Parts: sequence; structure tokens; C-alpha cells
Amino acid sequence: MSEILYMSNLYVPTLKEDPADAEIASHKLLMRAGMIRKVASGIYAFLPLGMRVLQKVENIVREEMNATGAQEILMPALQPAELWLESGRWDDYGPELMRMNDRHDHGFCLGPTHEELITALVRNELRSYRQLPTTLYQIQTKYRDEIRPRFGLLRSREFIMKDAYSFHSSVESLQETYDQMSEAYGTICERCGLDYRPVEADSGQIGGKVTTEFMALADSGEAELVWCDCGFAADVYCPNCDYAANTEVAECITQPQEYEVAAMEKISTPGVTTIAALAEFLGIDEAATVKALVGKDEKGQVIAVFIPGDHELNEIKIDRVFAGFQLLDDEELEATGLPKGSIGPVGVPEGIIVAADQNLEKIARWVVGANEDGFHYVGAAQGEDFKVDVWADLSTAKAGDICPNCGTPLEEARGIEVSQVFQLGDKYSKALGAVYSAEDGSDQPFIMGCYGVGITRTLAAVVEQHNDEYGIKWPASVAPAHLCIIPLTVGDDEVYPAALRLAQTLKESFPKLEIVIDDRKERPGVKFADADLIGWPTQVVVGKRGLAEGKVEVKRRATGEKFDVSFDSLADSLSFLNRYKQTYIGRGPIVQ
Ligand code: ATP
Ligand code: MG
Repeated sequence: MSEILYMSNLYVPTLKEDPADAEIASHKLLMRAGMIRKVASGIYAFLPLGMRVLQKVENIVREEMNATGAQEILMPALQPAELWLESGRWDDYGPELMRMNDRHDHGFCLGPTHEELITALVRNELRSYRQLPTTLYQIQTKYRDEIRPRFGLLRSREFIMKDAYSFHSSVESLQETYDQMSEAYGTICERCGLDYRPVEADSGQIGGKVTTEFMALADSGEAELVWCDCGFAADVYCPNCDYAANTEVAECITQPQEYEVAAMEKISTPGVTTIAALAEFLGIDEAATVKALVGKDEKGQVIAVFIPGDHELNEIKIDRVFAGFQLLDDEELEATGLPKGSIGPVGVPEGIIVAADQNLEKIARWVVGANEDGFHYVGAAQGEDFKVDVWADLSTAKAGDICPNCGTPLEEARGIEVSQVFQLGDKYSKALGAVYSAEDGSDQPFIMGCYGVGITRTLAAVVEQHNDEYGIKWPASVAPAHLCIIPLTVGDDEVYPAALRLAQTLKESFPKLEIVIDDRKERPGVKFADADLIGWPTQVVVGKRGLAEGKVEVKRRATGEKFDVSFDSLADSLSFLNRYKQTYIGRGPIVQ
């Protein structure tokens, strides 16, 4: 990629208006800058400039994978149903799996991921413990028939992923590769210019016990981005230590408030059926109240659950304690005899289990429903007035809760999951009968890890973090080109030839510098607007007036900073271009 590009030759159909269906910056700007085009819902084509960015992201990922010793392969997107039947995921994966039959009526799917295929690929051939560990990866198109494809490249139905799979003979060896991959994933985010956090997460569909998601922080000001099912998830992190966790799993340590009262007192609370109304009625904070929810588990056991009034019940956590937990509907609730809006732990009908969030153990006396319409208790004492059968971590952590590591109040951020690492264990090797012969001669199932980077999602996440009202501000490491020379006029015998000379001089001094010349016969305003929209990291404006004084104007897109530089000494003045001097650019972070 070291030739000089001419805008007049490039196919860059920029748009003046945001596409009607684009809700977020990356979708709008990648479309407007002529980098991608929608083909169908959740399916996009990459145009030349988008393709250049895509290749840069891919190359960063490829370099970091190769540096870990992983080897690149390419597996087919089209996968036989048999393998998915063997693993059990033909049924488990659900409608997201794109299925089809060939002309002989054999079942196939378009791969959403490749655990089955890779495991089948190495079984019988990766045979000896001496060949382990081995890590294989590919950069390839994946298919998921997402229920709601949206946000452009962030949640699409066809997307590019780098997926790696490692094979081991011991858990220690898996841990080593897992740590190495986690580090490589951090480096990939940094090299792409992403502000990110590694976050402990739930392992969901893939299975396995240990997993970390790499979340690119997204603009928290954009409230419409709060969607758990579309690549955005609320996360909590500690501003003081390294702790960061997905709110699905983060341990919740609240700061409950005590309501000072000497003994339990029943008070009339007519019409008060919500926590907000109760707090207002008593003139106290919601954190000083106790919220009640009633559900049943898969065995039909009814459970009354109590959590701090200012928190939400966490479905994943309660399901771990009471498998199959579901809230009762109004009819079922009525049958239990508990009055909706005034439920409490005092005098709970026989046979109902009382479960409470562990944080409530810290409050001696609760403000809670009295199991009588229109009444609540203040000062209900645990152990005296009522008893709790099961204490557990049941609430969803949020900003203001306490960091389980260091005690600092947590903060909340919204993030885009750009990549994830998993320890799979022997889930797939067992299901598909993939074994190696161990040192003692016995056959053992492989211990596996898998590691995915959403290449196209990473590209979109970079735009989410690097843009302004005028367009994209590409970090130089992934920009479609590094520097754009803008001659204010073309076709005269002074300005355009000077721009060409400048391009040549820069090229000679900086062999790795990718230069674009906007040689179109357009008004300067149009060229400036396009340069800002496309987001070249550096713009050099060549005009008649400047040239008369021997000067050109340089603009840095990321900062908006502008300065004049002498035409003759340009190559010497722009020290930030020095990294393009070498013919080989190392693996270090190249951001601006
Ligand atoms: P999500 O929770 O967002 O649906 P996932 O956890 O199912 O994603 P993985 O199976 O971990 O995804 O896939 C690895 C990576 O592939 C993700 O971290 C993400 O960057 C990317 N990815 C997954 N689904 C999509 C999609 N529909 N569109 C674009 N990228 C995706
Ligand atoms: Mg994931």
C-alpha cells in the first residue's frame, strides 16, 4: 500500500445526508464516507476505502496472532450439518444458525463459529502430546441470522471474524495460551486506537468456564445505545484498581442504608405499591427500603426474594441458586396469598422459601411490605420478626456499588464487545471424539481454548470512538491512507504541479507513507468537507497564495490543529511522519 492514490480515480461515493436507517455514528459515517454500502438487512459491501481500513485491521490482528505462534489457516464457511449434530448444537443454536440443504438434500449451515469444524479437522491427525500445544486461526466471514441486525457493522448477519482455536494436553498449558491471547487482544485494541477494558463475562452459548470480553468503551452520552442484545452492554469498572466486570456477573456489594427505629412498627401506606412511592411516603432513600419479588423454580417451589430497594434482581444469579427461576404472573401470585405491592418476609405463608440478597444481611431492621394491602413495616428485624432461608448474591451491580477488589465505588460505562477469549475445556473434543495419545499411551480428549476478534465490529468501534460532527478521525494505524494533499486548484500550471512535487518528495523521504492527492476539479469547500468526512489523519493544503510565500498549510484531523509549513522543508518539519521512514514498520502501537 505505498503507491500514491488519486481521488479522481478512487471510487468513493460520499453522501451529504445520513442514511435514514443509520442510528449511530459509525453506521452513518462509514456510509457517508463511501466506505460501505448496505446490500440487505445486516449485510454490507466494502468499497475501496473501507476495504483499505478492513485490511489494516486484519493485518494488525494477523501480526499479533503470528507473534503468539498461532498458525493461519482457512476453513470453509459452508459446514455439514453432521458435525453440528455431533456436538449437539444443530438443535441448541436455534434460528441464528443459517441452515440450508444441497441438491442431494444434505443439511448444511453457514458457520457462525468454527469449533465443530476445527475439532473435526484435527481429530485423527493431531495425534501426539508432543505436537501440543497447537493454535490455529483464520480470518473469515461468519453468518448469524441475528434477530435484530442493526447499527451497521456492529451487529450484522454477515461479518468478518478472526477465530483461533488452541489444543492442549493440560489445563496449565491452556492457561498459558489463554493469557498470551488475552495480552495479544489488548495489543490489538491498542494498535487500533481503541480505549478498551477487559471484562469478566458469562460464557453463554459457547460453553466453558473462564472467559474475558474485550469491551471498547462507547460514548456514554448516547443514551439510545443502551441495548443488551446488540453488542452494547452496561459494564461496571473500578476507577482505582483493575477491576472491570460485566453487570451480568459482577459481584454486587451495595451501600445499604439503615432506617433508625427501635422496634418493628406497622404503618398504614394507602396506595403505596412501588419502591419509589414507599421511599417518597417515608421521606427516605430507596436504598433504605427492601424490594420483594416472587417467583418459582423449575420444580414449582415458590420463592419470595428480597433485594435492596435501589437494585434490580439479576436473572443469571437467581437462576444459579434456583434453577429455572421465573417470576409469578398475577394469577399465580394471588394463589400464594401474598398481596402484590405489600409483600414482606414477616408471616410468609407456609411452604414459601424466603431468599434475600446478601447485602441485606448488613441491615438489622428492614423497611418492607407487611403482607397486608396498604401496610408496610419499618424496623422488621431479621432473626426476630422473620427469618431468611437462603442468603445469596442476587442483585445486579451498578455504579456506586463497592469494588469487590479494593472498596472504591464502581463507575458505569457502556461498551462494545470487540473480542472474547474462552477456555472451552473438553466440551467439543469429547463430543466429537477428538483425542491425542498422551505420554502414558492412553487416548485423552484435547483441552481447548477459543478466541474471537470481530474484525468488522472492531472497525466500527474505532469509528464510534474517533469521530466528530464533520466525520471520521482515523487513527493512522488503520486509516485508509495517512496523508491527503489538497491542491486548491487543479489544471493550472502552478498549484497542481507543486502538489505532485510535494507528493514525490514526501514519498522519497517516507517510503511507507500512504499519500492521496485530491486532484478532482471540485471547489475547495467540497474537498475540505470530504477530507474531514473520510478522516485522513493529516491534510496538506496547497494554494496559490501560500505558494507565493513558499508555504503550505497542514491540518491534523484528530486535534484540528493547523499550522503553516515551508514548502521546501516539509519533509523535515513533520516529525510525526518519521515512523514512515523505515521500509518495515514494526508492531508497536501506531495511533496518530
Ligand atoms: P454478541 O454477544 O455481541 O452477540 P457473541 O458473544 O455472540 O457476540 P462471539 O461468539 O464471542 O460473539 O464472537 C466473537 C466476536 O465476533 C465478538 O466479540 C464480536 O466482536 C463479533 N461478533 C459477534 N456477533 C457479531 C455480529 N452479529 N456482527 C458483527 N460482529 C459480531
Ligand atoms: Mg462474545
